[in-house]
Amino acid sequence: MSNPASVATLTAAIDEQVERTHERVQGLYRELHRYPELPFQEHKTSARLAETLEALGYDVTRGVGGTGVVAMLRNGDGPTVMLRGDMDALPIAEQTGLDFASHERAETSEGKQVPVMHACGHDLHSSCLVGAAAVLAELRERWRGTLMLVCQPAEEVFGGARAMLDDGLYTRFARPDIVLGQHNMPALAGTVGHIPGQAMAAATTLGVTVHGAGGHGSMPAQTVDPVVIAAHIVTRLQTIVAREVPPEQTVVVTVGKLQAGTQGNIIPHSAELEINVRSFDDALHQQVLESIRRIIRAECEAGRSPREPEFRVLSETITLNNDPDGVAQLQRAHAAQFGEAQVFAMPRLNGSEDFPYFGTAAAGGFGGEDIPYVYWFIGATPEERWQATPGQSVAEKMRHLEMPHSPYYFPGNPVTLRTGIEALASGALAWLTAD
Ligand code: ZN
Ligand code: ZN
Repeated sequence: MSNPASVATLTAAIDEQVERTHERVQGLYRELHRYPELPFQEHKTSARLAETLEALGYDVTRGVGGTGVVAMLRNGDGPTVMLRGDMDALPIAEQTGLDFASHERAETSEGKQVPVMHACGHDLHSSCLVGAAAVLAELRERWRGTLMLVCQPAEEVFGGARAMLDDGLYTRFARPDIVLGQHNMPALAGTVGHIPGQAMAAATTLGVTVHGAGGHGSMPAQTVDPVVIAAHIVTRLQTIVAREVPPEQTVVVTVGKLQAGTQGNIIPHSAELEINVRSFDDALHQQVLESIRRIIRAECEAGRSPREPEFRVLSETITLNNDPDGVAQLQRAHAAQFGEAQVFAMPRLNGSEDFPYFGTAAAGGFGGEDIPYVYWFIGATPEERWQATPGQSVAEKMRHLEMPHSPYYFPGNPVTLRTGIEALASGALAWLTAD
């Protein structure tokens, strides 16, 4: 699509189709927002998405990797482009005050009753995916290839992407040539942000049990105190980033949970820790995890712990590394669609995603070469609010705005929905119309 005239007519054609579909997509969005579901429980959400995609003429398969949905549109010889939207919500009580706010409650996998809210905007992502599906189906005369739409469950627990891959996503349907996905962010609505290369962090949450030998608080010599051992562990873990990680690298080690004991005069039997690690290098990430295990084992030995500590990986995901050529191709497509001024350089994020499993052969378990992928960000803050927010750069302004996972976060304004549909549709067409 190097011919400027054909780019202009394609942009106009996308605009026309978005104009026809966006009100229906807004209705779908409000419905999904009102009835959020927890990871791997997206039964109503996935059923609604599946029936909508079927009505648009897609070949739809339900129940892929649990509640996942795959929708195919085969349209002659050409590349296979995969578009991914996630569907799950969070255990948060919504405080937005919207007339379509969630009042839902659900039971977690541990049997706990919790409120549920779409506080990360995954309702927006799946609605935009449906919008793009409508646009691309209408424009099928203009492109050749295979469109593969993936409604993914359980992103928040980093489980859904691997569940779909393990269920044969690339063998039962197609192996994509490029994988595309997006996330909303507190940036100006109507803008699209790109990051070539390292974009999001690898993340692991490790659960640890440290064993002691409990007893009376007045007789410490007859006990092994796991509280003291745990305290040393927390302090010593700080030396990993300070003394073991090269200064040019970014690593975070956070002990976010530390629990032991019931009252002051009892030395408990054990202590529980949860440790969260973030980094931008998968090899270094593994090294840091090994350092954590080494320090904990050594502190347990130093503290006379009667048993080896126990480690459990509670959740994990790998770094998100955007394909630089793919980013360049998308930036051109998005600049043509939205205008150069609407495309910005997004700062790297310490947040994490399970999206990179779709492109990383070894981690995703699908074999062969890695598949290039691009993940971009769409602005979700309405213009008036953005102008009133202090700061000059996107990064500065973001510090003053609610982020995803806040009970007040609401990315679903009409401009952002439109942008999300257009970004996916124009992004897919950058591959599907290539000569
Ligand atoms: Zn999230
Ligand atoms: Zn999210």
